[in-house]
Amino acid sequence: MIHGLTTASLALLDRLSQTAQKHPKRITAAVAAVLLTGGGGAFAVASLGPDAADLPTKLVSYPVESLAENLSLEALEAPGFSLYRSEQTRSSDTAESLLQRMGVADPAAAAFLRSDNTVRQNLLGRAGRLVSAETTDDHSLVRLTARWAPDDSGTFRRLVVERKGEGFVSRIETAPLTKGTRLAGGVIRSSLFAATDAANIPDAVAMQVAEIFSGNIDFHRSLRKEDRFAVVYETLEADGEPLRSGRVLSTEFRNNGKTYEAVWFQEPEASKGAYYTLEGESMRRAYLASPVEFSRVTSGFKMRMHPILKTWRAHLGTDYAAPTGTPVRTVGDGVVEFAGVQNGFGNVVFVKHRNQHVTVYAHLSRIDVKNGQSVEQGQTVGAVGATGWATGPHLHFEFRINGQHQDPQTIAQQSEAAAPVSAAARPAFQRLAAAMRTQLSSADLIQQASAQ
Ligand SMILES: [Zn+2]
Repeated sequence: MIHGLTTASLALLDRLSQTAQKHPKRITAAVAAVLLTGGGGAFAVASLGPDAADLPTKLVSYPVESLAENLSLEALEAPGFSLYRSEQTRSSDTAESLLQRMGVADPAAAAFLRSDNTVRQNLLGRAGRLVSAETTDDHSLVRLTARWAPDDSGTFRRLVVERKGEGFVSRIETAPLTKGTRLAGGVIRSSLFAATDAANIPDAVAMQVAEIFSGNIDFHRSLRKEDRFAVVYETLEADGEPLRSGRVLSTEFRNNGKTYEAVWFQEPEASKGAYYTLEGESMRRAYLASPVEFSRVTSGFKMRMHPILKTWRAHLGTDYAAPTGTPVRTVGDGVVEFAGVQNGFGNVVFVKHRNQHVTVYAHLSRIDVKNGQSVEQGQTVGAVGATGWATGPHLHFEFRINGQHQDPQTIAQQSEAAAPVSAAARPAFQRLAAAMRTQLSSADLIQQASAQ
């Protein structure tokens, strides 16, 4: 069934499938499922598998408005048919509110959900469980299915409520999760998390993307409106629905007119993989662009007006607003030159790096390192606070070269990178990079089509 697909989306799918037919070897995947909202175009996700040629192509769409409003006259006049609708459970859900969101108007079904122990224990009051319903054309419940992964065993639970005779029955089944790949993209309008929410991308994936580009982009301070991104990531799926996300396989970020790309690759002899540019250069740099990890908490935190700093004429540095207690990390390997209290800075840590580079982390609520201690890039040196001349919690960060403050993001981007892909692994890497380039441009196309 194809409801609510826009012409643009169909044209896109047509284009993707043509590309797949023309380049069956280069394209390791084709669109297996595309989720598109009705009018808003809030998100679009396509599922890619490694042997897409063997997969049947199917289209699934979920109308966003209530079913009752969406029904057209022809649909109402058609003989008996089934309606499908997917939702996520909320902790505040009652049997009635859940069924109503799913377009079910069936008092007997609601009464069963309220009274059945299996449903009460596994569905009502449980937030974030994927639930789908099949109804008749008059909104009576035929089948309701909820899916969730209770642990890391690689299996999921499936709760099924089905009409049987005059009433309903419920049962719980266990089935294996299958590995899949998803590709998605978005445009920054207000924040990265607003964009990933709109594209239905899990927070864990958004944070991986921010970490991958942490030597290139300071996500706290330098995101611009109209920045765009695409990402291909692993998923664990239950009956074709993604329940969990895994590793980011490749991603692209266009920040302030400059495009960065990354792909996960493991050298044949290496114990673990790493991220590289599509040209095979390592993404890992001598310095991170930001001393505060990017997360939903730190991204939404706003700096209060700062009466003291206004009069602090000598203020040189970069301020990061974040809640008290947020971990502060050293942006590069080095040795702690000073860890203690200083006038103005409050609790402060100085880390000395190579080439007369020094980083400063001030106003800390807590210090986690000692004078003379060696620290590694990303290691926690303390926590955000408001000690010294600070009226609200924030990190004052400085990057000094020969005593002069420098722009940390510029330094990070120009800093030395780890070793590139080895000559021996180049051919394998280039095949992977070519496949990822194709997938990322598909993600971009899908994102553009859904935005129209
Ligand atoms: Zn400052």
